[in-house]
Amino acid sequence: MITEEIKNILLSKRILREDPVGAIWIDEYFDETLNGLEVTDTEIMVCNSLQRRCSCASMRNKKIIILDNYLSELFIIFNQILCNEKDSKYLNPLFYKLMHEAYFLNGDIKFAAIYKTLMTNKFHETGKMKVNQLTRDSKPQYLYAQQTFLVMHEVMHSFFKDSSESYRAQKEAVAAVLDRIFYSREIGHIHMVSDEYLEELCCDHLAAISTIAVSAEHGHCSEMDAACAVIMALHYQFLLLCIDRVVDDNYLSDEVGEFAVRVSVIRLFVSNYFKVTKPEEVNIINDHITYNIKLWEKKYLEPFTTFLNTQKLNQIKYNKMKIPNEEIEKLKIELTKSFLNQ
Ligand SMILES: [Zn+2]
Repeated sequence: MITEEIKNILLSKRILREDPVGAIWIDEYFDETLNGLEVTDTEIMVCNSLQRRCSCASMRNKKIIILDNYLSELFIIFNQILCNEKDSKYLNPLFYKLMHEAYFLNGDIKFAAIYKTLMTNKFHETGKMKVNQLTRDSKPQYLYAQQTFLVMHEVMHSFFKDSSESYRAQKEAVAAVLDRIFYSREIGHIHMVSDEYLEELCCDHLAAISTIAVSAEHGHCSEMDAACAVIMALHYQFLLLCIDRVVDDNYLSDEVGEFAVRVSVIRLFVSNYFKVTKPEEVNIINDHITYNIKLWEKKYLEPFTTFLNTQKLNQIKYNKMKIPNEEIEKLKIELTKSFLNQ
């Protein structure tokens, strides 16, 4: 049992939102997976926060996986835009919304307010996006796999903390894969990610495999759809990370480069998995994944790059805008209220 007190401590720094997604599937696999991994004293806590960050915490000998369903909510929207041409128009307003929220979290009230106005104007042009209702059985269930992947990724962090032997073995395997991809005849072995960051890739690897198995086992989507959904989830998270780093002026940080490696390596993990489990279908699955990644590049990456370039120019203009301090304080109170009412 996670007590209210523990909950309050762990979520004290987050801005909580209402959670329309909930934990509708987690009971299907959570306890079973933990038992399988022999991970004990671990519980899950579901929240929905503006920070959109999952994590794994330790408290009073108990480990707690925090699933932030704001990511799930965003994934539902991203999936819908990816699959429905008529929803593409909502992407741009969505970028403004995400920038608005990221500026607010970064403590930049002036820019948060500017982007709120821009967001409102953009949504005024397009109208509000109609997000399809999600049910326990709606199909194809990309979100099922994506949410499972988020949970499993954190479970793996927990597992590795308990089992240094498994971590060492996994780390060696993943480092070997990286070596194979990023080996240059001229330069030799290139270290694409730091030693600490390698853990992220190890968690992705095991999380992807268990997610594919769990999703198919419980009949929510095919293994191919689950694989695709997982890969897309990392692409979406990459986009969110770029927004966060643009906002705090760290766009060229190692973190962005390392996440880009994660995004490309996950494909290889998935492909290797199917080479072993479904050798006769691996080409079809790889083609399907390539098709979806191309779709993502066209539907997300290109508009996002254009969006960022426009923002760079606009920001010179916004930087010159002066807002008196007392006005900023008022805006801060208003914005905080608006987030709490969501
Ligand atoms: Zn992680």
